[in-house]
Amino acid sequence: MGRLLILLLIVLLAVWLVRRATRRAEPPREAPAARTSEELVRCVQCGVLLPRAEARMAAGAIYCSEEHVRLGPSKDPR
Ligand SMILES: [Zn+2]
Repeated sequence: MGRLLILLLIVLLAVWLVRRATRRAEPPREAPAARTSEELVRCVQCGVLLPRAEARMAAGAIYCSEEHVRLGPSKDPR
């Protein structure tokens, strides 16, 4: 009976170690990418909202298109 209990504990420990190893390996790869692609950012030229993945970054500002990167930040104060 005692031996069976030790065997059960070893099996539980093995399962726990495998789960911990796989859990640590998978989510960090997916979570940050999903979060950044869903995040909405605003174009400093026209003020349109778009996903970060589709935005263009130039000189620390966010733009919706190459056209607005060329135009630069809007002069119109809002
Ligand atoms: Zn724009």
